[in-house]
Amino acid sequence: MADIHSILKRYWGFDSFRPLQEDIINAVLKGRDTLALMPTGGGKSLCYQVPAMAREGLCLVISPLIALMKDQVENLRRKGITAFAIYSGMSRKEVINTFKVASDSNCKFLYVSPERLETSLFKEYLPGLGINLVAVDEAHCISQWGYDFRPPYLRIAALREELPGVPVLALTASATPAVQHDICEKLEFRNDEIFRQSFERSNLSYSVFKVDSKINKIIEIVRKVPGSSIVYCKSRKRTKEISELLQLQKISADYYHAGLVQEERNKKQEAWISNKTRVIVCTNAFGMGIDKPDVRTVVHADVPDCLENYYQEAGRAGRDGKTSYAVLLYDERDLQELQEMAALRFPSLEEIRNIYQSVANYLQIPTGTGEGQYYDFDISDFLKKFNCSSHTTLYSLKALEQEDWISFNEQVFLPSSVVFTVNKDSLYEFERSNAGLDSCIKILLRAYEGIFDQQTFISEKVIAGLMKQDVEEVKKQLIELHRFRIIEYKPQKDTPQLYLLRNRIKAEDISINMAAYNKRKEQFQQRMKQMVEYVKEEAECRSRIIGSYFGDDSIRACGICDNCLRQKAAKLTREEFENLYHRIINMIKFESLHTKDLLLKLNGIKKEKAWKVIEFLQAENKIEMDKNGWVRLK
Ligand code: ADP
Ligand code: MG
Repeated sequence: MADIHSILKRYWGFDSFRPLQEDIINAVLKGRDTLALMPTGGGKSLCYQVPAMAREGLCLVISPLIALMKDQVENLRRKGITAFAIYSGMSRKEVINTFKVASDSNCKFLYVSPERLETSLFKEYLPGLGINLVAVDEAHCISQWGYDFRPPYLRIAALREELPGVPVLALTASATPAVQHDICEKLEFRNDEIFRQSFERSNLSYSVFKVDSKINKIIEIVRKVPGSSIVYCKSRKRTKEISELLQLQKISADYYHAGLVQEERNKKQEAWISNKTRVIVCTNAFGMGIDKPDVRTVVHADVPDCLENYYQEAGRAGRDGKTSYAVLLYDERDLQELQEMAALRFPSLEEIRNIYQSVANYLQIPTGTGEGQYYDFDISDFLKKFNCSSHTTLYSLKALEQEDWISFNEQVFLPSSVVFTVNKDSLYEFERSNAGLDSCIKILLRAYEGIFDQQTFISEKVIAGLMKQDVEEVKKQLIELHRFRIIEYKPQKDTPQLYLLRNRIKAEDISINMAAYNKRKEQFQQRMKQMVEYVKEEAECRSRIIGSYFGDDSIRACGICDNCLRQKAAKLTREEFENLYHRIINMIKFESLHTKDLLLKLNGIKKEKAWKVIEFLQAENKIEMDKNGWVRLK
């Protein structure tokens, strides 16, 4: 077995492991089932990639995000490591083909999105793959009690039967103790081996402000703290508004959300990463997979809906270890909304059935058909035509998804595909008279087996690499070939896809496991409550609140969050206390004083300290204060 340090150096060029990476890798190499909790950007991928390289055989990686999965595959290939991916939108034939190629090549990594874990196909091909490790990325998705439950994750356990003795490595950035426990149970861990990186971020100062004008506060913050900044808000519309208001103040800012086309998103993201844009105002669609070390502030203009998300998003500040700020702004309405959210997020069974029926009608799916089909689903058009509320629709679809009726999320999209539509003779003719397109044709044929006869998913990026051209040029050539009717080229779809897991049935026959549904709702309310508590807490160290939420009670008070600073400011020595005690009593011995004057006369003493003593005297019934602020002896 190759030494893990030399593998790290040889393929990644790194000299040393980060904290915990080596422990996790060694546990995996010993064949232990392992759960690794490390923050986003902490380096989880290496924890399965290195041991897989150290051993004979292939690592099966289960990952929910197609875009990230494709990045990983490309990164590995660039290092000369063979890797493939199987995801939603691929035809069964394509999947089989990928399995075959993976078994016949020296493939080291096979990435699979969970909804493709069809037991029958996997049963057939798994034994031939020589799997040495199963890595489950974003493992919290397996828990119903977590904040991002994805039912297809539950299919992973069935794999274990086919792979006796193969260790499982589950990875996640954040999971409460209950979810950690659930992950180990659902993945049928034979042993409990949990590695948890501390949730302590000693260079990150958390604070919370109740404000009247959020925009004024944001301006104040980005003026006060120089350097790169992220401002998160809930609505897409607001990202643009806030960004424009910042620009009016001559602050370099841009906005970002999932409603923008991919190219524009890339451009905005790139400009921010390279510090051409200073402040990016965005929804939580921003940040996934981004690893920018020098972010100085992360401001939340709205309260996120759970501490998991808050911790992840706030944690994008200060990766380089320098002092950074995570600031959360709120007003009463935010808290009100959080309290009402459960009702919105969990529609009634009747509402769910109504949405099912409307969507099926909209897509014109005849009863008894549709299983295994993809449908373009333009949700805004649907909402307009059927006059449904967007919340009810979205969360009804989510409920249907969690019960395995449909699959609908931003991850399900179809990649570009190509099939040749001419015979070999006419193709030959065409190539002779169109030398400029010859190389593109040759590469399509060489890179994609079967493309001559069947619609095959392609990647313009891969072709561009092979042709040493840029992606735009490749797209242009493909469009041209399409126009000449040499190929049929279907560019990647930007419209979300709705996938039917079962044939359409009558709405009243749609069933939902209500006990589990209600338990999820309860858990949701609990998470919401803890978020509100975090916002309202005025004494406990914020790092400690977050740590203990994730089951880490060992964190020391950070000393730099707003609560710690408040405590520090108000901390009195015994001597200070006694001194203040007597001074105040003496001052009001003969006359009552207004608190304002009292504080004035105590000049040089911090207000917080004076207040602490005043409160003490009140509690001890030594003094009294009327509602206008006058203090007198009792
Ligand atoms: P995660 O999945 O935990 O969010 P990644 O696996 O994507 O994090 O890694 C984040 C970044 O850290 C990557 O750019 C990776 O190359 C880098 N990285 C990981 N391990 C090391 C290491 N030991 N030394 C230096 N850089 C590392
Ligand atoms: Mg990752």
